[in-house]
Amino acid sequence: MVSEEEVIKQYNEALCKFPKLERPTRVNQDWEINGEIDVIDDEGSFWDTYKVKIIIPHHFPLSLFQLHEVGGKIPKQIDWHNSLYCCVSTNARIYHVLGEECTLLNWLDKFAHPYLANHIVRKITKEYASGEFAHGAAGIVQDYEMLFKVKGEHAVCKKLKAICILTKCSRNEACFCGSGKKIKNCFLKNQITHKYMGIPFNQLCEDLAEIKFAYKIH
Ligand SMILES: [Zn+2]
Repeated sequence: MVSEEEVIKQYNEALCKFPKLERPTRVNQDWEINGEIDVIDDEGSFWDTYKVKIIIPHHFPLSLFQLHEVGGKIPKQIDWHNSLYCCVSTNARIYHVLGEECTLLNWLDKFAHPYLANHIVRKITKEYASGEFAHGAAGIVQDYEMLFKVKGEHAVCKKLKAICILTKCSRNEACFCGSGKKIKNCFLKNQITHKYMGIPFNQLCEDLAEIKFAYKIH
């Protein structure tokens, strides 16, 4: 459970670069930050302002920040927008890129702000600046293809299964985290915080389940 102290610390850090965010409030068990994000390009030119609501889930960092665009500037259609909140990136990619530096400021800087900037680019040019990822399971597969340097959903599944599905024999194999220890002396002693390429074990397993379900892989 993320502490109030941690939330306020991350908020204060984010304020230096995103000064129009209001102080976090507790909503049920999660934390909510309302406010605005100004999109400013690398040369310092102002593009646009977005009204947002950011959720810091109580399970953070085992669950990630969520961005909600609440000013009506981003059409709430499936090809623009996931129905629940903005599809800023896949969770796997965010964990992988931010690593141990998974803070509100870094997430805003490297994901939320570029995501909003990209929407402005798309409005003008009808295309995203960096190409577009598929939504849902297809997007998750695309991401793992790049991370694992493999091709196709079956290859992605195979790699994820090797991490997520433990057998009796795999207990004695080298741990997937790269520590050099056996799985029984490493992963099995500390499962919650275990990561592969910066991605928490529970996220890898969730993604595996989603891909298996979407592509009907057994
Ligand atoms: Zn390990």
